[in-house]
Amino acid sequence: MRIAIGQLWQESNTLNPLPTTLRDFEAFGIYQGGELITRFAETNELGGFIQSLHAWPTPTEIVGLMRFAAWPSGPVDAATFAILIDRMMDALAKAGRIDAVLLALHGSLVAECEPDVEGHLLQRVREHVGPTIPIVATLDLHANVTQRMVDSADVLTLYHTAPHIDVMGTGRRGAGALRRILFEDAKPIMAFRKLPMVVPAERANTQDPTSFSYGVRKTLEGWERNRHVLGAGLATVQPWLDIPDLGSSVLVVVDGESWRGWGDQACASLATEVWTHRRDYLPDLVDASDAVHVAHKNAKAEPSALTVISDSADATTSGSTGDSTVLLSELVKYDWPRPAIVTLVGPETVAEAERRGIGAEWTATLGATRNRRDFLPITLPVRVTNIFDARFILSGHLAEKLPIDMGRSAVLTQKNVHIVVTSRSGPHFAPQLFQTAGLDPFAASVLIAKSPCGFRAAYADRAKQILVARAPGCAPSDFWRIPFQRIPRPLWPWDDALVYA
Ligand SMILES: [Zn+2]
Repeated sequence: MRIAIGQLWQESNTLNPLPTTLRDFEAFGIYQGGELITRFAETNELGGFIQSLHAWPTPTEIVGLMRFAAWPSGPVDAATFAILIDRMMDALAKAGRIDAVLLALHGSLVAECEPDVEGHLLQRVREHVGPTIPIVATLDLHANVTQRMVDSADVLTLYHTAPHIDVMGTGRRGAGALRRILFEDAKPIMAFRKLPMVVPAERANTQDPTSFSYGVRKTLEGWERNRHVLGAGLATVQPWLDIPDLGSSVLVVVDGESWRGWGDQACASLATEVWTHRRDYLPDLVDASDAVHVAHKNAKAEPSALTVISDSADATTSGSTGDSTVLLSELVKYDWPRPAIVTLVGPETVAEAERRGIGAEWTATLGATRNRRDFLPITLPVRVTNIFDARFILSGHLAEKLPIDMGRSAVLTQKNVHIVVTSRSGPHFAPQLFQTAGLDPFAASVLIAKSPCGFRAAYADRAKQILVARAPGCAPSDFWRIPFQRIPRPLWPWDDALVYA
């Protein structure tokens, strides 16, 4: 057996004015061939593929294609899109005879010239390998699944969790479906329903027993325990995509014609249930100033209490720019008994801090360097308290043992407000980022997590209170207030009166 594996991964956000370029993929690390296999044997979907393939009953040769990943940001520019696709297809052509293709994809990668990058890639791969070679691809729970993806792949395997703590497991499930096809002659049939709805991410917490999403996860996991089911998933999409064909999807993959009816029925019933519960996804938002005020009250009442405020509108995990000063402007109005921690993406600020050196004090103008449409800069007296490389291993939401490099970074301090400024975007919620910066996120009075839901994996058990702030940015929860131009209409919640049959 020769199995080709590869990855193309980014969650795009069309409200982010910064295009994603080849440099962004290079910054995250482009790997190919044998190096891809050695470097990613223990991390994320590729690791799930590799470990599963090594355990197969017949000796299996893994052929590494390409690994392209970039941190969530604006759409990929046209030249980069062409390079990504050409290099992946080149690697596939050079791989020679193969028995199957396993791809780790996101499902919401958008290029300036192509709103459905994964559909385009899967179609090209199908055209290359022909109709009989199995293609299995994994997708994020926030994928915008398209008919073209469904038509081109044999099996699409979705994450079951948000926070995404089953990334590597999804790789294993995808490889498991492929194993069934190759060794047990399974004949996958995909039932696919597209729902005319998109939802905010904040309350889609599959790990919270009080959440509707928890029950959905249990249902999907239950279905997958049936050996006639090769996969089942709900993709609620990420909503900051002004593209045609935007919508949530349910996928149920069964083995063989005799299960087709069951698959169709299961898919339709879950789609109806999700539609019925669509309002359960709407979060309670608190004005940024009120959220910080509550955090300060908590800190005064109980000095060891941690309040986490989600600045989901500027979530770097959702493809926002990470340079919002909205919460920072509120934090500096208070005296905090313990650190108040907030992040910014600001390479110019890091360079200036490095030029001035640790201990330097000056009046800095911070933020709004990448998104001047939504944010205003703030001018503050600060002191440089740390300069460091934001390099660490991310585990938890989004990753298992995934190396992250956000470049040279600095901690600027104003009284007890600590501003972690990184050169590049990345997981601006991760405890590992703050620890690398020399700060203890769990010992803070207040921590601003630029993440809508995933941060809960790290903080839900440690925080006294978690609030979601209403603020401007590229990833607002109340996204339907933005007049998108290209989305299909009617689409909920833009069209609240919509009826789904
Ligand atoms: Zn996601």
